[in-house]
Amino acid sequence: MHCVFCDIVRKKRSAQILFEDNSVLAFEDINPQAPVHVLVIPKKHIPTSLDIKEEDFPLISYLIETAGRIAREKGIAERGFRLVMNCNREAGQTVFHLHLHVLGGRSMHWPPG
Ligand code: 5GP
Ligand code: ZN
Repeated sequence: MHCVFCDIVRKKRSAQILFEDNSVLAFEDINPQAPVHVLVIPKKHIPTSLDIKEEDFPLISYLIETAGRIAREKGIAERGFRLVMNCNREAGQTVFHLHLHVLGGRSMHWPPG
């Protein structure tokens, strides 16, 4: 099945990449919902959070640590930011390759829409 984020990992699709190593990639969201809106993804294709296996636990921890590092680099860590991982249709997941949204630079609302 075609995956737009795997295309970004393989450089078949361009993106504004902020960080990359062997296991994760962080890039600017194409349709930002806040002044800071970065996506952090594992290079491994994992469709949703329901598909995370025990062997992926270190990778998922590293994903969260990377998101925090991005927040610091973007200068929003102290003010606050939101990490979002949508799962399946009613949550609004549109790309079925696991990703963490790093959102910040404005006040966030609760409950979320
Ligand atoms: P979801 O709704 O699945 O949680 O989030 C998918 C996110 O990926 C959306 O915020 C959307 O704007 C972003 N997105 C979708 N396609 C692309 C793309 O080709 N490039 C980038 N940079 N972001 C994308
Ligand atoms: Zn993928």
